[in-house]
Amino acid sequence: MDNSLMSKIDQLQEYIDKSIDIVFFGGAGVSTESGIPDFRSATGIFTNNLSAETIISHDYFFYKPEAFYKFYKEKMMYLNAEPNACHKKLSDLEKAGKHITIITQNIDGLHQKAGSKHIIELHGSIYRNYCTKCNQAYDAKYVKKAQGVPRCSKCGGLIKPDVVLYGEPLAEETINQAIQAMENADLLIVGGTSLKVYPAASFIHFFEGNKKFYINMENEQLGDDFTFIKGKIGEVFSKIKVRRN
Ligand code: NAD
Repeated sequence: MDNSLMSKIDQLQEYIDKSIDIVFFGGAGVSTESGIPDFRSATGIFTNNLSAETIISHDYFFYKPEAFYKFYKEKMMYLNAEPNACHKKLSDLEKAGKHITIITQNIDGLHQKAGSKHIIELHGSIYRNYCTKCNQAYDAKYVKKAQGVPRCSKCGGLIKPDVVLYGEPLAEETINQAIQAMENADLLIVGGTSLKVYPAASFIHFFEGNKKFYINMENEQLGDDFTFIKGKIGEVFSKIKVRRN
């Protein structure tokens, strides 16, 4: 890493050490180093000419469940993925006494797997699934292993992941939690997201402080008020030290 990058990471370290209430706002780029492709980077799913926004949508789910599940099981359900250095360091900081809220657009459950507790899942999780008829809960393995479209073993109803599909609104409680976390924070770290999915991307504007960092491996700056750290998020977080409060 070059000197200017290291000095920005040192600055991030200083703010992490001093801050009382940190929000980490992340997206699909947080999990690429765990082997889960994102949507919009050079190797992302969108580059394969597949319109994920069309397929992972509310309408597709109900009108073309076979096509939905073919894509979803193959491209969104990575049940063997493991947390990377970013997930782990955030969890270690929390365990060491830092108040960190993770607001994630991801549905892969890797922050939980790493041991973090304060997590707001804006778009739900692949690990929660319910029958659309009788509400019976199902785990991710049941859905992933089902032949074609997963059906309820009790009533035969269509099983739906507890994931916010394109065309569906975010839960009001989740929105309120995310806004409150932003308003309370004194350090905001945004990472691994293109900030192109709304309303999720708009939540960063509720942050009222002036310590803002943006970590992205591509050259996607957010504006002068953000300190931009260009790099892989796992590599950046592996440089951060955990200091007990
Ligand atoms: P995106 O694909 O639109 O953007 C990812 C961004 O992260 C890009 O700007 C890319 O340059 C950057 N990036 C990729 N790998 C990185 C790394 N190792 N270090 C630093 N930066 C990296 O993702 P988005 O903004 O989250 O929006 C996509 C939507 O699709 C979200 O709703 C997201 O939840 C969902 N999605 C989720 C997963 C998952 O759960 N893992 C995977 C794909 C898509």
